[in-house]
Amino acid sequence: MAARAKAGAALAALREDLSGDVFAPDDPGYDDTRGVLNAMTDPRPAVIAQCAHAADVVRAVRFARELDLRIAVRGGGYGLAGARVDGALLVDLRRMRGVTVDPAAEAVRVEGGATTDDLDRATRPHGLAATGCRMAGTGVCGFVLGGGTGRLDRAFGLAVDDLIGVELVTADAERVHASADDNPELFWALHGGGGNFGVATALTLGLHELPQFSVMLLLCLPEFGPDVVRTFREIIRTGPDEVGGAVLYPALDRALCGALLTYAGGEAGLRRLTEPLLALPHTAELTGAEAQGRLCATGGRAHWSAECLTDLPDALVDVFCARAQAVPVPGGFRHMLLPLGGAVVTGPAAYPVPYRDAPWLLHPFARWTDPADDERALAWVRDACADVRPWSTGAVPLDLVGDEGHERVRAGLGAGNLLRLEKVKRRWDPDNVFRFNHNIRPI
Ligand SMILES: Cc1cc2nc3c(=O)[nH]c(=O)nc-3n(C[C@H](O)[C@H](O)[C@H](O)COP(=O)(O)OP(=O)(O)OC[C@H]3O[C@@H](n4cnc5c(N)ncnc54)[C@H](O)[C@@H]3O)c2cc1C
Repeated sequence: MAARAKAGAALAALREDLSGDVFAPDDPGYDDTRGVLNAMTDPRPAVIAQCAHAADVVRAVRFARELDLRIAVRGGGYGLAGARVDGALLVDLRRMRGVTVDPAAEAVRVEGGATTDDLDRATRPHGLAATGCRMAGTGVCGFVLGGGTGRLDRAFGLAVDDLIGVELVTADAERVHASADDNPELFWALHGGGGNFGVATALTLGLHELPQFSVMLLLCLPEFGPDVVRTFREIIRTGPDEVGGAVLYPALDRALCGALLTYAGGEAGLRRLTEPLLALPHTAELTGAEAQGRLCATGGRAHWSAECLTDLPDALVDVFCARAQAVPVPGGFRHMLLPLGGAVVTGPAAYPVPYRDAPWLLHPFARWTDPADDERALAWVRDACADVRPWSTGAVPLDLVGDEGHERVRAGLGAGNLLRLEKVKRRWDPDNVFRFNHNIRPI
């Protein structure tokens, strides 16, 4: 009874103090606020604190500690790992989406709930860019702190390579700054350790000059899939680091094989690089916003995973195409091959991002609507990864996997880095209150 009265009083005080809104399960608005992009998760947090600024985050963390609640963090809401946040305080940052560009310093400050679209919109007028996500809508903090392989990574490196500073609210509700000079060990750990160490209320990122950016999406009939993949592979092998993209297969609403080419340069240059693909029979050729618009993935049920590949031999191409054609539910399934290399390989090796040297990534992405298809969809993703195990490097980009067990977290952070990360976790979150993530356990 006393505990109930304490919780009631603490909640009333939180409502009073927060500039943003607070939702408990009986409040109107709770159900509209708790949902995420992926209908596979049905999160039921004890309380949602929709923070408006960093002081709100401090107040919300204090509330959670007072009541001994675990703390979950929501940025863009696109995450798969740790999404079941039942009984926790959910710190919802979706009202904190400010982005401030400093063109002279070629840097940007991004608030904790800003999306990669917010970031792109703010930097583009200055002819500057960061390594953004391949698809629209992802939260910048979740994406960057998890590593962040994106559409410009071959040209600029992983998103996390451009991290200059992190403004963090810790498990003790303290505001700290992490950078190369301030709390350097924490700063190191934030390069891949995600939301394990606190709530990032803002990041500062370095930017790159990008006067022009071009995109082309070529759609081919599925029987040409192996030719498309092999031709795409050759363009990546022989082309400059400025070219990247993906093979998406089946692409879009029809079972087509798509080659997406992104280029840190003008359209004429991209066209020249794409000539071998354009020579293949294709049903459509989309460029610019039209191509990018077709790649958005929203709503429904979703599951995905990834494997880093040592190579992309013809045998793997055939396995990939066969699995892509065997999707169990027509619709939004996408089997993807993403090229790494370029500036990803040459980026800083010291950080806990162990997949830099993989030249290719396999990324099966399933999206469907009927819960009756859940089992078949999950099995397809599992089988797609199992197909390529003979060529797997063993490392994995954590941004692109969900809750797949502790061994996968180790594979995503690097076995050699884990002990060091566990020590950082013990220093900053000894009670593991931030556990709804690819969890690093405090030792
Ligand atoms: C359609 C789609 C496309 C994607 N494309 C790519 C891609 O091209 N490249 C890639 O690398 N990944 C990609 N991802 C994966 C995505 O980067 C990760 O799932 C990322 O964690 C999502 O972050 P979020 O803020 O949107 O999600 P959320 O669910 O809000 O957050 C995910 C986790 O990130 C942490 N987190 C988020 N914000 C903060 C914060 N401010 N402070 C502390 N911790 C925080 C928390 O631990 C949280 O549990 C994609 C995902 C989807 C659904």
